[in-house]
Amino acid sequence: MADPMSALSAVRPPRRPVLLLLACLWLLLSGLGGWGVYWLAQQAGIADLRASGEHRMDLYAASLEREVDKYAFLPAIVALEEDVQALLRRPDDAGLQQRVNRYLEQLSDRAGTLSVYVVDSRGKVKAASNWRRADSFIGEDLSFRPYYREALRVGSGRYFGIGTTRGEPGYYLTSTLGPAPDRVQGVAVVKVGLAQLEQSWSAVESPVLVSDENSVLILSNRPAWKFTTLQPLDEATRQQLENSQKYNRRALQPLGWQVLRELDAGTALVRLKPEAGASAASAVSAASSAGLFLSQARPLASFSGTPWRMTVLSPLRPINQLALSRAWVAAAALALALLLVALQRQRRRHLREQLAARAALQAAHDALERKVEQRTADLSAANLALQQEVAERVQAEATLRAKQDELVQAGKLAVIGRLSTEMAHELNQPLAALRTLAGNSQRFLERGELEVARGNLQRMADLADRMGRITARLRNFARKSRGEPTRVLLDDALDNALAVLEARLSRAGARIECKRQPQLAAWCDANRVEQVLVNLLGNALDAMRDQPHPCVELECRAVARQVQILVRDHGPGLSAEAQTHLFEPFFTTKPQDEGLGLGLALSADIAQAGGGSLQGTNHPDGGAVFTLSLPALPSTALADTRAG
Ligand code: ADP
Repeated sequence: MADPMSALSAVRPPRRPVLLLLACLWLLLSGLGGWGVYWLAQQAGIADLRASGEHRMDLYAASLEREVDKYAFLPAIVALEEDVQALLRRPDDAGLQQRVNRYLEQLSDRAGTLSVYVVDSRGKVKAASNWRRADSFIGEDLSFRPYYREALRVGSGRYFGIGTTRGEPGYYLTSTLGPAPDRVQGVAVVKVGLAQLEQSWSAVESPVLVSDENSVLILSNRPAWKFTTLQPLDEATRQQLENSQKYNRRALQPLGWQVLRELDAGTALVRLKPEAGASAASAVSAASSAGLFLSQARPLASFSGTPWRMTVLSPLRPINQLALSRAWVAAAALALALLLVALQRQRRRHLREQLAARAALQAAHDALERKVEQRTADLSAANLALQQEVAERVQAEATLRAKQDELVQAGKLAVIGRLSTEMAHELNQPLAALRTLAGNSQRFLERGELEVARGNLQRMADLADRMGRITARLRNFARKSRGEPTRVLLDDALDNALAVLEARLSRAGARIECKRQPQLAAWCDANRVEQVLVNLLGNALDAMRDQPHPCVELECRAVARQVQILVRDHGPGLSAEAQTHLFEPFFTTKPQDEGLGLGLALSADIAQAGGGSLQGTNHPDGGAVFTLSLPALPSTALADTRAG
């Protein structure tokens, strides 16, 4: 059988180290879940950023293209102008030069270019739209400028550079001048400013930049980043750029970004150091110019002559923040879910254990019940057996009682048997007297002495009464008794016993000394008490049979809740053997025809059955003394007696 207590003790909470381990696992799993969600959200965010970055790049490239293409035809228009061609043929014609200057000025103003100018075949500026200004290009030697050389080489060119005079960055569009491509007389140059474009880009918060073949940032909506480089320049390149004055001696410091991870060609995660945007005007732009960015770059295809690359930077901070907040939410949700699962499992375990404990208890209960049933069945069987035994014992007791009654009766008859001699003697006397009186009466009647005859008849009647009393006493003594207790006056019991033994007492010449107590009563069967007294008196007479004047002392007394009758003789007393076997059946020291050895055994039984006792001992002054103790009247019987 499963021990219910062990099943109950199984419902113990987990121990401290296990709890600690579970808590660590819980935190780890929640953290891992959070990290996974962070990673996924970041990847999704980056994918979104890439898509929007691509889109932005399309827009920026298109706007840049539009901006430049607007002016693409201008150098050719300049080349078509008669005055321009004439000026190249007659470079010293001041009037012509003035006209060309004005024409270029008007053209530049109308087109919105930075400047338009004409360079002769030796690289000298012959006419310029900015002729009025003190820092006009006129007369300057631009033969070293790459766009000029390029134009001479291929007939037209595009070039980004910073003006050597005013240091103004711009896009140079060139076209050769002359009657035929192989007879070049000069170059028409249109310098387009991209400030407006940059202006329009500056509204966009995310950085966008265009780098040229030297990785120098030539356009950007971050003014501070312009003319920085994406990669540090080696000394040779730096020297070469110095010579061409392409960037008009700008410092060309590196932008100082750090490529963290290349995602694929042209796409990378980069970190911009705060210093890179330190010189930015506003804090907002400073904030949006530093940190982590997704960098997307691609070459600008339409600027085939110039290998420019457009780079769009999208800040990762919002994505990271969003991913972080999602990660926190996911981690918290996961932690909660795990907690719920753990609680659920714990609850289920608890329930399982409770059920197991209950089942164990039920099993124990069932086993106990089976045991109880078994025991009850055993007990019932034992009870039945006991009842049978009791019934048998009751039966045996009834039989015993019947036998005992018969024995008592037999004992009584034995006494009567012993008394029969005395009885016969006692009856013989009145019988003889009756006979004599009857004969006498006959004679007195014949003689007519009627008075005497009447006297004789009266005496005869008295004798018949006496004989009737003797037989009545014997009949009374001999009757069967049921042993039912009644109120018995000790005096009456003694008188009846003495009456039964009257003949024997008188024959033995015995003296009876009796200390009576009138009204002292016992609660017993009168007939049986008389039988005991007859036995005791008979034994006393037997013990003093050799004495000429035997004396029996009788005493009635009340002791506690009992009454006692003491029978003392003056015989030899009880021998040692008699004291040992006094109440044993068939112990006798008398001759066979005188004693059966049942008298005292029956008397003791009678006393005991009536709730009393019988004791025999030797008196200190000689002789034996027997004490018959009987129950005194019970209080209810006493009340009845008084009422009666
Ligand atoms: P029984 O009288 O037939 O012998 P009892 O049971 O009455 O049987 O007595 C048993 C014996 O006890 C007697 O034989 C006698 O030896 C002894 N005994 C009884 N009463 C006395 C007595 N008063 N004095 C001396 N011995 C007695």
